[in-house]
Amino acid sequence: MYKINPNFSALSRRYLFSMIASKVAALKEARPEVVIIRMGIGDVTLPLAPAAVEAMRAAVGEFSSEETFHGYGPEHGYDFLRRAIVDNDYRGMGIRPSDVFISDGAKSDTGNIVDLFGPGNVVAITDPVYPVYVDTNIISGRDIRYIPCNAANSFTGDIPEGDVDIIYLCFPNNPTGAAITAEKLSQWVRYALDHGSIILYDAAYEAYIRESGLPHSIYEIEGARQCAIEFRSFSKTAGFTGVRCGFTVIPEELGELNGLWERRQGCKFNGASYISQRGAEAIYSPEGKKQVRQAVDYYLANAAVIRQALGSMGLEVTGGVNSPYVWAGTPGGMASWDFFDLCLGKAGVVVTPGAGFGVQGEGYFRVSAFGSRQDVEAGMERMKDVLDRI
Ligand SMILES: *Cc1c(COP(=O)(O)O)cnc(C)c1O
Repeated sequence: MYKINPNFSALSRRYLFSMIASKVAALKEARPEVVIIRMGIGDVTLPLAPAAVEAMRAAVGEFSSEETFHGYGPEHGYDFLRRAIVDNDYRGMGIRPSDVFISDGAKSDTGNIVDLFGPGNVVAITDPVYPVYVDTNIISGRDIRYIPCNAANSFTGDIPEGDVDIIYLCFPNNPTGAAITAEKLSQWVRYALDHGSIILYDAAYEAYIRESGLPHSIYEIEGARQCAIEFRSFSKTAGFTGVRCGFTVIPEELGELNGLWERRQGCKFNGASYISQRGAEAIYSPEGKKQVRQAVDYYLANAAVIRQALGSMGLEVTGGVNSPYVWAGTPGGMASWDFFDLCLGKAGVVVTPGAGFGVQGEGYFRVSAFGSRQDVEAGMERMKDVLDRI
């Protein structure tokens, strides 16, 4: 008789976004006339950068003749992309192509990385948080110590008092939109070096950093190559959510971990598609960079509209400056799912309830800037009308 992994029963019953989807579906069924504005899920909407489209078209063409056909590629990614990443994203930071592992995205990597660590690790995860870190640790049977991120610590968490072994950090943060200063990130790196901990640093929103002096990579911090793994994705930076490509950096200085990840990926993964990797490479061309910057600027301008509108409603607002997410306190401290229901039911606007990201998210909601300007403006007007009436 087979036995299922009992840890699954410890997961919260449903993934946040499927809960939201079913509430939205219920509204559509009950009141099909409502035009719903989605400001909830973190998916991009602008078309892919033309440079990436062109590169992928050419890559598809290569499959049509025997001479240029590609079969299985290297599990850790093609050299052309590993090199482009090192030359553009990590110049001067001491990262080598062999430290970079290409994948189908950061969700898989941030989830799969738990395979490298043994039982008995104390895992510290910031709260509120991208649910993947939490759920994958629960599935693998680990206990989690939550690090509250709130206004008092600028949503960057307090450095732990005791010993923790594995630390998940994500900046600019999903869901709070908070960026971290080099000074604060240095404190985290110092803690990790002093305690022999590892930092798992998710930099999926790096491209949204516009203020100078904020670190784009943890490897800008001295000592980070000895204590940190960095995850990046082309999804939110270059619109690759449907194309699928990302990468993980495991510096040689981390010793065994680099080889173990190579072994793990070689065992369970057959590489990202050649086509996606050619598309990602094109993002680093001069035209590609320009096109990506334009798209990110568009989302950041949306975020500014959202920030301004929520602020004018008298709400506590953070994020939305170096991030596509705005994080706001609910009016009167209303429970975040109640606020979600109010926005959906009365305004037809979908936001993400903060409680879905952790205990500390209660009383907050997240608004995503990944829509059209028109939707963002209309969504904010509708929300304002609802708040004016309560
Ligand atoms: C969207 C997101 C990712 C995942 O990106 P993919 O590369 O599309 O899998 C990773 N981390 C955070 C925090 C995200 O919001």
